Amino acid sequence: NRVLYSEVHRPCSVMLLVNPHSGKGQALSLFTGHVQRMLNEAGVPHTLVITERQNHARELVREADLSKWGALVIMSGDGLLFEVVNGLMEREDWEKAIQTPLGILPGGSGNALAASIHHYSGAQPVSSEELLVSCGFLLCKGLVSRMDLASVHLGSSPSNPTRLFSFLSLAWGFVADVDVESEKYRHVGAARFTMGTLVRLASLRVYKGRLAYLPVDEVDGEEDGQSPVSLEEMTSISPQHQPPSSAFCSSTLLCRPLKDSPCQNAAHHTFRNSNNAFKGKKREPMSANATLTGPPDSLLVPLDQPVPSDWVVVPEEDYVLMLAMYQSHLAKDLYVAPDSTLDDGLIHLIYVRAGISRMALLRLFLAMEKGTHLANNCPHLVYTRVRALRLEPYSSKGVITVDGEVVEYGPVQAQVHGGIARLITR
Ligand code: ADP
Ligand code: MG
Repeated sequence: NRVLYSEVHRPCSVMLLVNPHSGKGQALSLFTGHVQRMLNEAGVPHTLVITERQNHARELVREADLSKWGALVIMSGDGLLFEVVNGLMEREDWEKAIQTPLGILPGGSGNALAASIHHYSGAQPVSSEELLVSCGFLLCKGLVSRMDLASVHLGSSPSNPTRLFSFLSLAWGFVADVDVESEKYRHVGAARFTMGTLVRLASLRVYKGRLAYLPVDEVDGEEDGQSPVSLEEMTSISPQHQPPSSAFCSSTLLCRPLKDSPCQNAAHHTFRNSNNAFKGKKREPMSANATLTGPPDSLLVPLDQPVPSDWVVVPEEDYVLMLAMYQSHLAKDLYVAPDSTLDDGLIHLIYVRAGISRMALLRLFLAMEKGTHLANNCPHLVYTRVRALRLEPYSSKGVITVDGEVVEYGPVQAQVHGGIARLITR
């Protein structure tokens, strides 16, 4: 099920998208300091593209000639990969486009996918810089695996929903609030989630809504819903890649001209801008895909219709948090879904019912560092594996995040599409 991207896409030129404001604002220096030489020595040609604003990468990837690229790699947090995934899925040729190998180098404050692939490789948890080096090695090796995506419907207009694609998580309640509120502690890096958690614990609240899900049918024994894929199959569905028309520069910053960009040299432009542009700036909710490209969601019915009869409707309506995960880690130190693998075709659904004490909730978060929270016998915590879910919050205002990005608040439903993307891992 794994192939070298250099075998599929010869030669393996990599578009490396960097969000210079991600994390503590050091993504570019982290890249030049820790990864660039490694890639050069391994002979991985790459072209650096510095993003100038939110959705820049999404637009770039939507329009790009993908035949030129062996892989699209981001150096940022999960938010930039979210842009890339959605840019690919918004293309007319999404089915082919989403086969482009994706890669992640942790340069943000939320590096959940990087932590997950590091974990899947069998390695022990490490510091942030070691995680970056570990992901740099994975990129040099260039082994590609399949990755699940979830299709997420947002229901401002239930008969005509907008849709986006998610590789990591859907969150509501405590975790979503922490993600957004902790933006102001961005300067401390990944520790912002710990600080945000402590602050939110002090003002713990209840979130009201209705949750329903389609449970995994474990009886048929085909838990992951996927049939094994041969190497031939993997390679035969990959996009046709031609040799690049020009040589790529791997040792110096080379920026491709950016379409519709007032400045043709994004690198220079970005260096002049100070990091302050990003700090404390309130972000717009991520827009969804209105054209509905992508695979049909056979498990979902329109949001204004009741869920199908084989779904489970949770009787409780008072929650502290709801978290749907498709990968193991929600952050470097939040090992939330220990059973999850990259392409198990499952949504790992975790929710915490209202009534939990602050102390018990704190214990849960501390246990998540080691992934032992599910064995804690916490009566308020429920964990179940599902294929699809729907959440209807009762309040008109609140926070829902998809892959850590704020989306429009309101009814939301999702279904998993097993292994439809490809990621550089192992
Ligand atoms: P972090 O983990 O530090 O939050 P992300 O990669 O998640 O880093 O990026 C945070 C947000 O910044 C995302 O919403 C992303 O779309 C957005 N973004 C990407 N590039 C830029 C840029 N050049 N300027 C401002 N925002 C950007
Ligand atoms: Mg983020």
